[in-house]
Amino acid sequence: MLNGERKIARPLRWGMVGGGRLGQVGYKHRTGALRDNTAYQLVAGAFDIDPERGKDFGINIGVDGNRCYPDYKTMFAEEALREDGVEVVSIATPNGTHYEICKAALGAGLHVICEKPLFFTSEEGEEIKDLAEKKGKIVGVTYGFSGNQMLLQMRAMIEQGKIGEIRVVDLQYTHGFNANDQADKTSDSQKWRVDPKVAGPSFVLGDLSTHTYYMSQLIMPHMKIKKLLCDRQSFVGSRAPLEDNAFVLMRYENGAVGRLWTSSINAGCMDGHRIRIVGSKASLEWWDSKPNELRYEVQGEPIQTLIRAMPYLDESCNADERLGALHQEGLSESWANIYLKFAIAIDAKNRNDEETLKNLVYPDIDAGLDGIRWIENCVRSADNGASWVEFENIKALLV
Ligand code: NAD
Repeated sequence: MLNGERKIARPLRWGMVGGGRLGQVGYKHRTGALRDNTAYQLVAGAFDIDPERGKDFGINIGVDGNRCYPDYKTMFAEEALREDGVEVVSIATPNGTHYEICKAALGAGLHVICEKPLFFTSEEGEEIKDLAEKKGKIVGVTYGFSGNQMLLQMRAMIEQGKIGEIRVVDLQYTHGFNANDQADKTSDSQKWRVDPKVAGPSFVLGDLSTHTYYMSQLIMPHMKIKKLLCDRQSFVGSRAPLEDNAFVLMRYENGAVGRLWTSSINAGCMDGHRIRIVGSKASLEWWDSKPNELRYEVQGEPIQTLIRAMPYLDESCNADERLGALHQEGLSESWANIYLKFAIAIDAKNRNDEETLKNLVYPDIDAGLDGIRWIENCVRSADNGASWVEFENIKALLV
């Protein structure tokens, strides 16, 4: 149970690149990081591609105007001169900027929390991983849904054999907000998502399915994909070669099979993020639209709905609990949970506490790299006529 008491000796001095006034995801970062008031203090930022707007915005959210910088390079250089300069920076900018900002941040001796998809290529990911290791810094990746506690309940139940051998993995992250091309023309947040120079080699595979793929690996750390086949489409033709819909079939090393549907043209869909794991004895199902519930369906028995924060849940699940049963938690708490784990990882890294790092489950650089590999393999398969390709996981997310 979390009650806001500090988990690290003092709050980390935190800065942001991007996530400004018009940014979609910036508020989620602040909601997550500042939830408990004991893990981070937001002290600086280069919040916006437009320096004036960024400064005005920074002042409006309580940051000292002298520490609202026109760009990230100035921010890293100026903050390095201060005794109380930032120690960790979050990157909440469009995909195509992550690599260079991440590299510059590590070069400036900062820990990094970066948006997904992490970078365009696994080579970039390997390079940044090496650099982070050399610098003794953490790179966390904001798979923002993965802090939902009921996912840890799924992980525990699968580990305890409650559903038997996993046979089928059924993943979906779809919505309908891009059923037509209106936002492609009118929304700054959408325009870059369909531009391969900024978005990278994919649209929805990177934008949506990297979350669900990571969550599946969090739930089933022992399950490695052996092969996958991806078929992707651009139903709005101007988006080609980037897809607005894709189906992925997976074959796992243990003989299990899986499918993932990701789409932003699932017209009218408002509850399209779900994970169903089918075992030889029972199934587990979690919907992002009902994050406080987990369905446990044992063959031949009445269906059970497990409810967040109840004492019958696993200790690992309830450790991330804040509000108590009867009270709903959701995306804000999910972000707060992963941000708290980033803070614990950063603090442990600073103290060379390898034991804590080894036992902490959070989306780290390997999870980011694995997400890049997921996109690369999907795109490789799709662009090769939707053929089966070998998939190598970077690392099972084991502790
Ligand atoms: P957006 O276009 O809505 O916002 C981007 C923000 O970054 C804007 O404030 C913009 O001014 C600023 N910016 C752009 N370039 C900059 C630069 N060089 N320096 C400083 N600021 C800069 O984009 P978004 O939807 O917020 O997405 C940003 C990133 O977050 C993307 O990588 C996206 O994939 C990811 N994202 C993740 C989640 C999640 O749940 N984790 C949700 C949405 C978006």
